[in-house]
Amino acid sequence: MSLDWQYFFSLFTMSAFYEACVVVIVLSILAWVIGAVLGFIIACGKLSEKRWLSVPTSLFIWFFRSVPLLVVLVFVYNMPQLFPSTGAFLGVPFFAGLVSLVVTEAAYMAEIHRSGLLSVAKGQKEAGHALSISFLGIQRIIIIPQAIRVSMPAMINEFVTIIKLSSLVSAISLSELLQVGQRLYSQNFLVLETLLAVAVYYVGIVTIFGSVLHWAEKKMDIPSRAPETLSDQECDVLRQQAIAIKSEQIDPNQQGMPHALSLREIEKSYGHHQVLKGINLAVKSGEVISIIGPSGSGKTTLIRTINDLEKIDNGEIVLFGEDFIKPKQESIKHDVYQGIKRIGMVFQSFNLFPHKTVLQNIMIAPHYHQKNSSVAETKAQALFLLDRVGLLAHADKYPHQLSGGQQQRVAIARALAMSPDIMLFDEPTSALDPEMVGEVLKVIQDLAKEGMTMIIVTHEMEFALSVSDRVIMMEEGIVQVDASPNEIINNPEQTEDFKRIKEFMGKVA
Ligand code: ADP
Ligand code: MG
Repeated sequence: MSLDWQYFFSLFTMSAFYEACVVVIVLSILAWVIGAVLGFIIACGKLSEKRWLSVPTSLFIWFFRSVPLLVVLVFVYNMPQLFPSTGAFLGVPFFAGLVSLVVTEAAYMAEIHRSGLLSVAKGQKEAGHALSISFLGIQRIIIIPQAIRVSMPAMINEFVTIIKLSSLVSAISLSELLQVGQRLYSQNFLVLETLLAVAVYYVGIVTIFGSVLHWAEKKMDIPSRAPETLSDQECDVLRQQAIAIKSEQIDPNQQGMPHALSLREIEKSYGHHQVLKGINLAVKSGEVISIIGPSGSGKTTLIRTINDLEKIDNGEIVLFGEDFIKPKQESIKHDVYQGIKRIGMVFQSFNLFPHKTVLQNIMIAPHYHQKNSSVAETKAQALFLLDRVGLLAHADKYPHQLSGGQQQRVAIARALAMSPDIMLFDEPTSALDPEMVGEVLKVIQDLAKEGMTMIIVTHEMEFALSVSDRVIMMEEGIVQVDASPNEIINNPEQTEDFKRIKEFMGKVA
């Protein structure tokens, strides 16, 4: 027996098949889009710390991943027997098929989205918070775009799966490809030829849509983008443009204010481990304070409490005489967000946004807070800052194309973009190769000269002594020594504390 090729080819001129193709495509696209959105919501629910959200969403995922689609399909199609009012909608095979595909796919896609969301580093959220961006803003601008890039390949795979699964909807007599084929071969018994043609139609649809989606995925792939370093002439043009619009200088310190920052009796524990044991610290405007101390003494925890990255248990932090940080139950969200806007933070691990260019990283916060009257002005200010840290030529690059030292300088420019009154640095050079430390310290030194109020956690002892007005040594959650570099270097009395700090500095330097 041989195949009837003439009949096989005639199947590609039959309008019923093309109509069925449209049904498959529309059904699959709708199921994919709605399933993706619903899956995302379910993934967020499962990741939530609130049990009333995480438990039902987890149950949904567990249930619909366990039940075969065919069972869901027949059940949904027969639902009008139980609830007659649903008949007008679920009695239509197309809608019954769509609902079944959506709930099943949402369960799978929720897991894909969840892995995407979990893949975004914790530091990204913290960097967003340090720029005073709200929870929803962080999700929209920082987390979701990165998570979607990670989940895209798996999502494309899911689209192909949906196209193939749509053939199951023939079981409830939807006129899709398989059903058209079945109708034909039940009359002429040319089963193989007909199914072969049906297969060709499916392969065609999957190939066309698969290619389009892969193209879209490639477009989103940031590591494959490699913008060039700008030439000197291009930099000059950018500089002129920036100057023509407006370039804002860093706001010098707030004169006449008693203290930029007052930390009063700050206490913080992790479980039973008390990390900060009643820290008092007053920072004047324009003052530069270095915090040193052995690893684990609470330096990072202290600096993170200053912009609400860690909650305090007791005490309070006052910013330019105004209420700012209080223990969790007394804290006022508005005060906290307003305060954070006035404080810039630079992290040890940079925490630049990998899906944004260098320039976009710097523009993100002023743009979000509508700090300037136009986007052109925000861009001009960002270019100006980038020039200040010596990286104008790299404006269009992505963070992964820069060295560690360059990334940290971008992070400083990003923090400066909100014209903060105070800058916090948590070991800004610890993650850098030795040859890059100098370029970052130089930028910080220049800021100090301009009168920026700064708190710097550092292990660079020479730098701390040269740049600071006061050096604070922390040990086991308390301020052990608080002295000027001059006192530390030339202290004639040689008290125990001063001996200790000198010994510590000698050990580290
Ligand atoms: P430093 O920056 O001086 O090295 P840290 O502030 O990072 O010190 O840490 C102080 C102490 O708090 C350490 O003992 C550390 O293990 C603990 N610690 C820090 N963060 C956490 C956390 N999120 N959960 C539990 N313990 C923590
Ligand atoms: Mg630390």
